[in-house]
Amino acid sequence: MRNYLSLFLAASLACAAQETPLTSFPYTPGLDVAAMDKSADPCVDFYQYTCGGWMKGNPIPSDQPRWDVYRKLGQDNQRYLKSRKELAALLGSLHLATADDGLFFGFGSDQDYSNSTQVIAFASSGGLGLPDRDYYLKDDDKSKEVRAKYLAHVAKMFELLGDAPDAAKANAQKVIEIETALAKASLTRVERRDPYKLFHKMDLKGLQALTPGFDWREYLKAAGLRPLNTFNVTEPAFYQELERQWQSRNIDDIKTYLRWHLAADHAQLLSSAFVNENFNFYAKQLRGVPELRPRWKRCVALVDRQLGEALGQEFVSRAFSPQLKQRTLHMTRQIEKAMADDIKSLTWMSEATKKRALEKLRTIVNKIGYPDKWRDYTPVKVKRDDFVGNVERATLFESRRQLAKIGKPLDRGEWGMTPPTVNAYYNPQMNDINFPAGVLQPPLFDAKMDDAPNYGNTGGTIGHELTHGFDDQGRQFDAQGNLKDWWTQEDAKEFTDRAQCIIDQYKQYTVVDDIKINSELTQGEDIADLGGLILAWMAWKTQTEGTKLIDRDGLTPEQRFFVGYAQWACENNRPENQRVHAMTDPHSPGKYRVNGLVVNMPEFTQAFACKPGQPMVSERRCRVW
Ligand SMILES: [Zn+2]
Repeated sequence: MRNYLSLFLAASLACAAQETPLTSFPYTPGLDVAAMDKSADPCVDFYQYTCGGWMKGNPIPSDQPRWDVYRKLGQDNQRYLKSRKELAALLGSLHLATADDGLFFGFGSDQDYSNSTQVIAFASSGGLGLPDRDYYLKDDDKSKEVRAKYLAHVAKMFELLGDAPDAAKANAQKVIEIETALAKASLTRVERRDPYKLFHKMDLKGLQALTPGFDWREYLKAAGLRPLNTFNVTEPAFYQELERQWQSRNIDDIKTYLRWHLAADHAQLLSSAFVNENFNFYAKQLRGVPELRPRWKRCVALVDRQLGEALGQEFVSRAFSPQLKQRTLHMTRQIEKAMADDIKSLTWMSEATKKRALEKLRTIVNKIGYPDKWRDYTPVKVKRDDFVGNVERATLFESRRQLAKIGKPLDRGEWGMTPPTVNAYYNPQMNDINFPAGVLQPPLFDAKMDDAPNYGNTGGTIGHELTHGFDDQGRQFDAQGNLKDWWTQEDAKEFTDRAQCIIDQYKQYTVVDDIKINSELTQGEDIADLGGLILAWMAWKTQTEGTKLIDRDGLTPEQRFFVGYAQWACENNRPENQRVHAMTDPHSPGKYRVNGLVVNMPEFTQAFACKPGQPMVSERRCRVW
């Protein structure tokens, strides 16, 4: 581990000549009065009230698409074919070397939806260069404009690869034709929220029948795998379209497509001309970011991505004490207890379904701070003077590690995020919640602060992840993580009626210009936000029972709970980036994760003495959990 660390430091320092590394973590309190805008009325716009000062004091850095509390903390922590027949073997080796689903399709390992203890091969859709299928298919002016810029970008990349301008343009056109056909055959993000739509288990014969011209045995061999006979093909219709493309296109078009994707995949590792052109389209034009991140930041991000658990050991030793682990674990258990009480008290759910829900809740595994067992990176040879080689070896290590899981029992101890990550997740198939050390730092969790803002903020996040186990997707998996319906029909209907209330509420909100929230896509997150804060409130009340709570900074304890919650979501976002998020992000914008939530909580109305008819008081309150 020391090896990696010294290499990581060497890489960072070599790249970061102009910037002074931080010697200690900057401190932002868990409830920051300066971040507020007390001139705003909390009952009119609670987001402006809690985050107004933050937004004013934190303009978006020029190398970022948006800036929010999470990102700010995140930074502080910081050969081609000869014949069609050869395509299978070539893609096998390319997928292994690049771990990129941009090369026609994705191939990896995941838990069997029907037997969560076993890991099987997953063949998924992919092959696109734009962030979502809808970019290729929508007919509005903005979408057309993005497509025109994308075409110009792909052509420019071909020119950098040495093509003459006319040929480059014609090649770009071919790429977009193929990608558009693949986009049409891909499911939408909303459709992909339904796990049953992504579950098509088949044997090798079944997979081969979808793409008769593509030799899967050759593919597997080239990817370093023995012959397999169990696959989940997430989108069979997509594979039928792949076959059509492979058979109907001439071999030069296929080569052209692969050249583009390989260039795009490697662009960030190549000369500045590639780095800049890649940045110019994907960050500047698509997300409105004016400047490329400095080299050292790109280096640190790369090391975290590739050797994250080595870097993470150092991070944990500096920033995550055993006491902090105990405190956050205690809070997690309290919120789980609150959820059990909440489930028991639901009037709309039958005893039979409650029993199953409680069983599922009891089985959830809490992963807090860092993994019990650290990943061993010994096989990755890191050389000081071989940047691209280092990246390739680390990528290969990770691809092999992922593929080696196929056909083996599941390792329930694995983490899907590295310890310095400022984020958290719930995984329905593992039935676990993960809170990396990086998200348990001020201003999100502030050990120096009292309970009110900590329960509102981190408590709300813990409740959020727990509630994901019971949102529109999570509820379809049972205590063991199997895709199995444990609901009575009546209870399932009661659930969907309540979820519909949230969908109807959030679809009214505007993201940017004339674009509204796609609330079918965001419903899981919106349900989790609301459920999470209700649970955090209950846990906070239990924790502080019998204690005399005092006002601070002119705020009552209840008001501080809500301000503590809302301040995790303070953000500024570029309009271009908001458009990308509206299309691809299952989370609502920060403003509505605050305002859309508090309107549903009578505790908020009471805390701020809001009056009926004011914008932060809803006439029709939604509540699922
Ligand atoms: Zn979430």
